[in-house]
Amino acid sequence: MTTDTDPLYTKEEWKEIEKNGAYCPALFTSLYLNPQSRMSSCCVMDENNNGNLPFIPVKDENGEEPKLSDLLNQDYFKKVRKDALQGIKNPACTHCWKQQENFPDKEYRRGFITKSREFKTSDEIRRSIREDMSVDYSIAKLEHMDVRFSTLCNLRCRSCSGAFSSSWYKEEVEFYKLHHNPVPREVWSKPENFEHGQPFLPGNHSLSVESLKPHLPCIKRIYFAGGEPTMMKEHYEILQFLIDNDRTDVMLTYNINFSQLTSGKYDVIEYWKKFPNIQIGASLDGSHEKAEYIRKGLVWSEVEKNIIRLRKECPHVGFYLSPTTGIMNAYNIVDFHKEWVRKGYINVDEFMINILYGPEYYNVKNLPLHHKEKLTVLYDEHIKWIDETRKGTNFSEEFGEGDYAGTYPSDGRGHTTWGNSAVDFENLKNVMNNTPQNPEWDRLYWKHFWLDESRKEDFFEIFPEYEDLRYIKGLGCKSFHGVQETWVDIYMDHLIRLSRGLDRYREPPEEIEIGS
Ligand code: SF4
Repeated sequence: MTTDTDPLYTKEEWKEIEKNGAYCPALFTSLYLNPQSRMSSCCVMDENNNGNLPFIPVKDENGEEPKLSDLLNQDYFKKVRKDALQGIKNPACTHCWKQQENFPDKEYRRGFITKSREFKTSDEIRRSIREDMSVDYSIAKLEHMDVRFSTLCNLRCRSCSGAFSSSWYKEEVEFYKLHHNPVPREVWSKPENFEHGQPFLPGNHSLSVESLKPHLPCIKRIYFAGGEPTMMKEHYEILQFLIDNDRTDVMLTYNINFSQLTSGKYDVIEYWKKFPNIQIGASLDGSHEKAEYIRKGLVWSEVEKNIIRLRKECPHVGFYLSPTTGIMNAYNIVDFHKEWVRKGYINVDEFMINILYGPEYYNVKNLPLHHKEKLTVLYDEHIKWIDETRKGTNFSEEFGEGDYAGTYPSDGRGHTTWGNSAVDFENLKNVMNNTPQNPEWDRLYWKHFWLDESRKEDFFEIFPEYEDLRYIKGLGCKSFHGVQETWVDIYMDHLIRLSRGLDRYREPPEEIEIGS
């Protein structure tokens, strides 16, 4: 038995542990709650489910919610902690071990180490560890929460799914009805069967705010994402609790879709006014009708009203755009970036590109060479523009257009300058040009065009820059989405490929019956 005064590790031993390359403070002082009711220490832990994180038992056999500290002290977490303290790299943290090898500066673990130093929590962690590797949360306090209470969201973004947005549910059910071998309703309608790739039921709620409350008085930072946090009552209940308990000093960070700032009786701006330390990343992928196409349900005029209101009423709030960038917005992000800088909504580095890796068919690595060449020139010119704009040589005279032009000079607003947009465009260029193309890329679009029909949209009308790719609409690629193909589909696919001189030939799937 160890106690606060008789800790398991001496200060000297602890110094060695902190340097062992496997230790991570997140394993002791951080909670990640994902929208599918799973929990872990951080959002990249066990991302490939190597360690099989358990579902949160939201209620026990008596219908009671377990204490959060008990959930965090489950055997699974104790094992990962034990390994970390012994310098063993547990597979649950593979994301970090890969980064350690390839991009040591971007290792996710390092952020937690930095924060632990900043908040001086290291000695609390040392003293909190019991012999069985459970943590005494009366000594070590939860420092960080990344809480995503449900999939509740108002949008149906093309790169998303029902796993993260409840609005996808109806459309996904329709899509799965097309499957060759439809899974019975009783299977896909259960949230725990989400792993089978079936639609996830909307409105699933996991941990209650009540279970978090014992830890909120000492929390240092909270990250809200979703789903869409600005729609979730749990998010407002937490903010209200912090206000009522004089904890508005907590650092709040967000990733939101920025389509609305009010939801029912809640107006998020009124809450944000009370918190001096807020950073908001807006998942906006493009501008105008392209933005509305990529993120279905978004109204562009509302987005512009929102940024103007945010800048006016909450000038203290740090804001940056976080466009998830793939084939659809590869051209438009340049115009989008320039327009928002010119209008004075953001400074030139309040723009952080999030490169899209999936779904595979939207990945920029798959673009045909002539598009890559055009985009490379476009990005090189844009990087020059970024450099010029940073110098402030052309910001106010040449580009001062909107009400807010000049209000926010390109060197920032007195708070953090978010990133380095030039480096982000360089990285995008590198991924695009140096990652091998999937040779089947143009046959993966069946779901994309099925969505066009379902939504009464026309990709080529909204994105005329891709008119030369119109042929992909006819390629028979249902089977990539697990949908039965007919001989007509297969012959059409073959004819299109022959007519375009594509040298690929595909054998029909084994299960297809002649004449079907
Ligand atoms: S080592 Fe990496 S994956 Fe593991 S808990 Fe820490 S930050 Fe998360």
